[in-house]
Amino acid sequence: MIFDLSKKHCFFFNELSKIPRGSRNEKAVSDYIVSFADERGLKRKQDEVYNVLIEKPASPGYEDSEPLILQAHIDMVCEKNKDSHHDFEKDPLQLYVDDEGWLHAKGTTLGADDGTGVAYMLAILDDDTLPHPPLQCIFTAMEEIGLVGASHLKKEDIHGKRLINLDSGGETVTTVSSSGGARARITCPLKSEENDLPAYFIGIRGLLGGHSENLINQERGNANLLAVRILKELQLAGVQLNLVSFSGGLKYNAIPREADIVFVSDTPQNELEAQIRHTEKEILEELEFSDAGFRVEFRREEGITERMPRTLTDNILNYMYLMPNGFLHKSMKIEGLTTASMNAGVVKMEEKEFVIEDLIRSAIASHTDTVIRQLELLAEFFGFEVSVGERYSGWNFSDTSPLRKILREVVGETGRTLTERASHGGLETGIFKGLIPEMDIITYGPIASGAHTPDEKLDLASYDRSFEILKEVIRRAK
Ligand SMILES: [Zn+2]
Repeated sequence: MIFDLSKKHCFFFNELSKIPRGSRNEKAVSDYIVSFADERGLKRKQDEVYNVLIEKPASPGYEDSEPLILQAHIDMVCEKNKDSHHDFEKDPLQLYVDDEGWLHAKGTTLGADDGTGVAYMLAILDDDTLPHPPLQCIFTAMEEIGLVGASHLKKEDIHGKRLINLDSGGETVTTVSSSGGARARITCPLKSEENDLPAYFIGIRGLLGGHSENLINQERGNANLLAVRILKELQLAGVQLNLVSFSGGLKYNAIPREADIVFVSDTPQNELEAQIRHTEKEILEELEFSDAGFRVEFRREEGITERMPRTLTDNILNYMYLMPNGFLHKSMKIEGLTTASMNAGVVKMEEKEFVIEDLIRSAIASHTDTVIRQLELLAEFFGFEVSVGERYSGWNFSDTSPLRKILREVVGETGRTLTERASHGGLETGIFKGLIPEMDIITYGPIASGAHTPDEKLDLASYDRSFEILKEVIRRAK
């Protein structure tokens, strides 16, 4: 298999590979797409974050068809092997084909995610023989760093209610749902008083953690909340304690694996330890088949001269003990799909504030709303404040999708069956759904693997076949 540049979709992929296009560095590739449109006399718009929107009028016979939107992101993840001298700011990718017909870039990510989608759109816009409805091609920037470009799009710029997102691969696979979400930052003012009591350290260790997108329904322990649980059990057993410090977790979207707590108490160390080991054993039994590495480190801590007052300690522990967390809802239509979850990812102490950072995910906005209200209501009781930022919409599964029906037909005619995949992660499709709720959406792309790593590769035979399937879908979307 060679990478045949006489095929338009290969030619444009090769052109894109010459232009450095890491996230936040999209101006050059965005300008390339603008000149492409200008050279062909196509109506285009480039916005302030370098998204480009191009329109191409309907082919003869398709003038009355509903417009069709194609969409892909122009940025790529820049990762390279340790021994690579590649400069992602200025060097072109060095493409090569292996013996099995896969396209790679030497020592770096290939940018098939989502260069394939961008190249397909350019090839389609360039092709005057393919019959199609009125087309709008949307090239988004900064997808890989949080769907930034798509979030900048305005409703009035989007000219259609049918969308094929070209950022999800598999040739015979299509995505049918994605999650929306919101970040919540929960804070309360820190206070301190002098301490003369013995201090102790509790470390939550050995948990698996993982991304809150696909692992939140796996009953993995949340280090922050297990730490709170242990302290609450001490309190319920009659122990008086004050928190000194609390930090756990690294990212709001990752299940926290470790947490460090220091507290003070006048209960003898051996009694504290006995109660902590008792709770540890209970938790281990709960996690036996999901997170069996869980363990608690416990030891004396010296030199602690300040502590939080009792009321603040109680407020923090009670808030976190009661806050919703983890897996919340699942789809009764799609096996194994989580439709709402919450991840208390990070707990930390800033200069003046105690901070909890959460990520709420849901395919349906009302689930997110409910969790936010619960967090706010609890905050009123315990003297916290909740601020919600970076909210994005989800794409809830719809049973009827005319585009999916066409795709299923076309894939079926190649002797294979279309597989539907649902995600609890956030996708640009959710943002389009948020702007135009009645939007019919499918995702499509070729077989590729290793995205976001230097092992990223593209199956060239699949790249060709998927392009034929995509063009056939467009032809039938009359
Ligand atoms: Zn992508």
